[in-house]
Amino acid sequence: MALARGYAATDASKPLEPFTFERREPREDDVVISIKYSGICHSDIHQARNEWGNSMFPMVPGHEIAGIVTAVGSKVSKFKVGDRVGVGCFVDSCTTCASRDVDLEQYMPGLVVTYNGVEADGKTPTQGGYSDHIVVKEGYVLSIPENLPFEATAPLLCAGITLYSPLRNWGAGPGKKVAVVGMGGLGHMGVKLAHAMGADVTVLSQSLSKKEDGLKLGADHYYATSDAETFTTLAGTFDLILCTVSAEIDWNAYLGLLKVDGTLVLLGIPEKPVPVHAFSLVPSRRSIAGSMIGSIKETQEMLDFCGEHNIVSEIELIRMDQVNEAYERVIKSDVRYRFVIDMATL
Ligand code: NAP
Ligand code: ZN
Repeated sequence: MALARGYAATDASKPLEPFTFERREPREDDVVISIKYSGICHSDIHQARNEWGNSMFPMVPGHEIAGIVTAVGSKVSKFKVGDRVGVGCFVDSCTTCASRDVDLEQYMPGLVVTYNGVEADGKTPTQGGYSDHIVVKEGYVLSIPENLPFEATAPLLCAGITLYSPLRNWGAGPGKKVAVVGMGGLGHMGVKLAHAMGADVTVLSQSLSKKEDGLKLGADHYYATSDAETFTTLAGTFDLILCTVSAEIDWNAYLGLLKVDGTLVLLGIPEKPVPVHAFSLVPSRRSIAGSMIGSIKETQEMLDFCGEHNIVSEIELIRMDQVNEAYERVIKSDVRYRFVIDMATL
């Protein structure tokens, strides 16, 4: 066992605080990673505050990890000391069921999430990236393209793949009209990725305050959802709408923006059920769907795509002791567009 230093939530109502814990000794198929940068995802806040009702404390959040390999087990073949690597939302999964064969392991019941979960032994709690190092099985470690600025790649490991996967699954590309709801951490990555895939991209934000940024990042159009006219102007426009908002919104109004056969994909997870009228779906054969992160294979594909297209996240680099203040700012949608913790400040 090696001691690790980090920041943890010890209770849903308390701020995060310095915390020391044990990481396992590396096994033959493990990679030891010195964490350099850790992104702050809104899911970290949901879980640190037990907003999903499944939190285990103490909890070291963080599933957007960028670091350097410091040691490898005897059977590791893909990585060597000094490599730039990433770790995302999960660190192990069931290796026998069919989902693994079709690279959909993120949807398996045996998924071991990076923190707020338990390892495959069923008892050891997993702890995340707001820490100095992590030990991860080789098969769950990703290679970060050399040409990308390191600190701004951390958010690709969750925000990036969460948007890349549905864009690919629903065929975003030339001739397709894609809308992204919410210009936050996930949303701004959706704009960049959909633009790079060649789609016509629209941002649907609560206001026009981030319009200039949205257009710079690759959006072709930008509308405020606080303006009721947006919903009449854009009625029947989109092939695909990716919703990154976890608040309750008027789902039927957004469904009305889809073309025949269009799909609204939920990425944010609202606490309450989503009320949908049959008339919002039936007359235009529309669908409503959900999507969660992406497989390891698809995450590597996304990182390579970002390397080719020079795509990274727009970030605000912060010190570890600014994490609680950063959480408050994320909640107020006051982040442009992802906070990343410089782990050298731990
Ligand atoms: P974020 O940075 O806070 O972005 C969310 C955006 O939603 C905000 O920037 C804001 O955009 C918009 N928004 C916030 N409150 C709203 C409201 N009341 N009504 C309408 N729009 C509102 O959060 P994030 O890190 O991108 O995460 C977004 C959600 O996705 C979270 O719930 C997170 O847990 C979830 N998530 C899901 C997955 C997955 O695999 N499906 C992965 C990661 C995260 P505007 O200011 O532009 O309106
Ligand atoms: Zn996340």
